[in-house]
Amino acid sequence: MAPFSSLRELRQGLGRGDCTSLELTEAALDRARRLHESLNCFITLDEEKAVAAAVAADRRLQDGSAGPLTGMPLAHKDLFCIEGWPTTCASKMLANFISPYTATAIDRLQGAGSVTLGKLNMDEFAMGSSTETSHFGPTANPWALQRTPGGSSGGSAACVAAGITAAATGTDTGGSIRQPASFCGVTGLKPTYGRVSRYGMIAFASSLDQGGVFARDVEDAALLLSVMAGFDPRDSTSSAHRDPWLESVPDNGVGELAGDSLTIGLADEFFSEVSEGAECIDEARQALEALGFRCRTVSLPHIRTAMPAYYVIAGAEASTNLSRYDGVRFGHRCDQPASLADLYERSRSEGFGTEVKRRILTGTYALSAGYFDAYYLKAQKIRRLVAEDFAAAFRAVDLLLAPTTPGTAFRRGQLTDDPVAMYQQDVCTIPVNLAGLPAISLPCGLHEGLPVGVQLIARHFDERRLMQAGAAFQRATNWHEARPALEGAS
Ligand code: GLN
Repeated sequence: MAPFSSLRELRQGLGRGDCTSLELTEAALDRARRLHESLNCFITLDEEKAVAAAVAADRRLQDGSAGPLTGMPLAHKDLFCIEGWPTTCASKMLANFISPYTATAIDRLQGAGSVTLGKLNMDEFAMGSSTETSHFGPTANPWALQRTPGGSSGGSAACVAAGITAAATGTDTGGSIRQPASFCGVTGLKPTYGRVSRYGMIAFASSLDQGGVFARDVEDAALLLSVMAGFDPRDSTSSAHRDPWLESVPDNGVGELAGDSLTIGLADEFFSEVSEGAECIDEARQALEALGFRCRTVSLPHIRTAMPAYYVIAGAEASTNLSRYDGVRFGHRCDQPASLADLYERSRSEGFGTEVKRRILTGTYALSAGYFDAYYLKAQKIRRLVAEDFAAAFRAVDLLLAPTTPGTAFRRGQLTDDPVAMYQQDVCTIPVNLAGLPAISLPCGLHEGLPVGVQLIARHFDERRLMQAGAAFQRATNWHEARPALEGAS
């Protein structure tokens, strides 16, 4: 099978006996190794475990007990715990942590038969937009090696864009699936908050974190979501909402939109942020109009305030979540501590990188007694206003179309000294997280040779229309089939 096959093609090939899972797994391992030096998208590759899982998958394919993903190699962002695997969150703090249990989302993917190839690079603790804050070095963008793949799930986006695996998991707290998907020319889905269990996902900002997927197209993303999604008694924020459409995806695919009279909203507040690739996003709108979608303007007056509110809320939650890494219960421990205070102080100073420390400090400040009302409480009020803007828009339209990012992939090192410019990368994605909505980034063109993504946003738990509209767009266009000309990867 070719390296850029979709999950559906792999499923057919495996089902017909054109290839075995062992062959696919060895080919993916080989490609991952060959590209390691140029991309650095894996933190861990485990040939032994992957081969054992592939051999077991081949047995199930033979004896007719295969599940929807049996034998397909996948790779996972290194903040999903997997029993017996290192789970580092790309931090020195967890560099030696081997997880004793498996995240629910991964457990479901493995239960459906997928083969885990390895763990993918990311920004440290998922804080960043470029995969440059990783303790294990930066990941490169397969389209232009001197550029970033975006972040924080940059390793996942690069892995799929480079044709190593057909799909990969990621997480999106403020844009970390959609922004790297956009930069790397792949499809990236952030489900509704609560759709996918967060159990076993190392927490950054618990009220915003959501697991999701990178794939070649919407159909494959929906297939993975159907396996990962669902209520989990071990995550009290996971939703008990059942979705017969999603459950039928492995058999029926995403299906066609019933009727062609959906209305798509366009908000100037998003479009005014675009500096590169506006022409591609406009063509995407035209392609959707040609498919029968009606477009109209809507207003989201508060989304400009979403970014600062997000950095208060996410920082506050991060400062709380990361307090467990104290060198005693979890994480890196300094050598020869002189006292308990010294142990805490040096373990945390040595274990965390600069960006993580910045978030802990600003988050702690925002929560401190004298400033709580001025920052944290105010940010929560803004969060409500942003959610209400979306709710009002969704009374008039069925979906929203927006840029995913202001521009295309920036150069490595270009924004590392300017945290606010780095934060600005997520202006179009963060509002969606504050409101807990589902959204997808779809490849919609190339601007000066670099991928551009367009974002569709839907009502809570309306992944059906989100994915059906996305699939209709991908049937009418072929941007999701564009491939980087990777050197040394043939
Ligand atoms: N870039 C954003 C941040 O640094 C979003 C990260 C994410 O979604 N995990 O917080």
